[in-house]
Amino acid sequence: MLFDPYKRRINYLRISVTDRCNLRCRYCMPEEGVPLISHQDVLSYEEILRIVRVFGSEGISKIRLTGGEPLIRKGIVDFISRLSQIETVKDLSLTTNGILLKDLARDLKDAGLKRINISLDSLRRERFHQITRRDDFERVWGGIEEAISLELFPIKINMVAIKGVNDDEIESFARLTLHLPLTVRYIEYMPSGNGDSWKETDLLTIPQIQHLLENLGPLIPLSPDRWDGPARRFRIDGSIGEIGFIGAISSHFCSDCNRLRLTPDGKIRTCLFSDQEIDLKEIMRKGGSDDDLKERLLTALEAKPERHHINSRLFKKCQRNMSAIGG
Ligand code: SAM
Repeated sequence: MLFDPYKRRINYLRISVTDRCNLRCRYCMPEEGVPLISHQDVLSYEEILRIVRVFGSEGISKIRLTGGEPLIRKGIVDFISRLSQIETVKDLSLTTNGILLKDLARDLKDAGLKRINISLDSLRRERFHQITRRDDFERVWGGIEEAISLELFPIKINMVAIKGVNDDEIESFARLTLHLPLTVRYIEYMPSGNGDSWKETDLLTIPQIQHLLENLGPLIPLSPDRWDGPARRFRIDGSIGEIGFIGAISSHFCSDCNRLRLTPDGKIRTCLFSDQEIDLKEIMRKGGSDDDLKERLLTALEAKPERHHINSRLFKKCQRNMSAIGG
């Protein structure tokens, strides 16, 4: 088992397989995109598999693939199939914007993917277009329906709540859980991503979101699932789905943090909001051994900060865009 200096057990690696994305969500990226990591600097699937094997032998058993948009990377299904065969990988999941999901869901399931998170910030076609700069709501919804029919449970719908953008849809999202087997998770808007676009006044905190759900009656708390991480789980009386809250800013979930991140170009990041990076690519490409990789893993654990500093004077926005870290 792996522990950091703050006695948190670290068993989770979030792997960004690409910094490319097929959406241009306004809060994440400018319309023209961001400078991309060159292809030769992106880790090969072989390199990622090696890292997963080595880290798995030390106690990293939970893997999530993200990006950028992971489903646009060529060969992703075959890669997932190889990943799912690694014995130490006990939990394998993927975060996607859902654009390509309808076409790929069956293959992903056959490849061994057990569950999926789909990002969706509006249930209205025009607003979806406005936020993502692409008119693709129907495709995403088709992907969600496909995931339900294939029972890729739990299917988590991640909604980033932003004041004046989608706060009038908070209740509609929760209502989905009344008749669909979905877990709707509200995520506080964080200061990462598109330039200086984040303003504290755009933030809708989890307590404010809970207030907007009062019409639906009391939320019944559910006990944390062992793979939950920082989400708090609830359900509405009589619902078949669940509701989750992820309050990176208001509820300071750092004490429950169990994760490291791997960037597309092979750097471990110890916290979304820390620019400290530990390079694995260079060491692998210079012929480093598995023990060298293990040593870097321990260095990363030692360096993991106790908490982020979003709410304090010490806060500095991170240098990389979210798409190049893996949200
Ligand atoms: N393309 C995939 C997707 O859309 O899920 C994976 C990458 S995306 C960066 C991962 C998640 O980060 C999405 O749910 C997105 O909404 C979220 N995200 C991006 N910028 C954010 C921000 N500033 N605050 C909160 N969440 C953010």
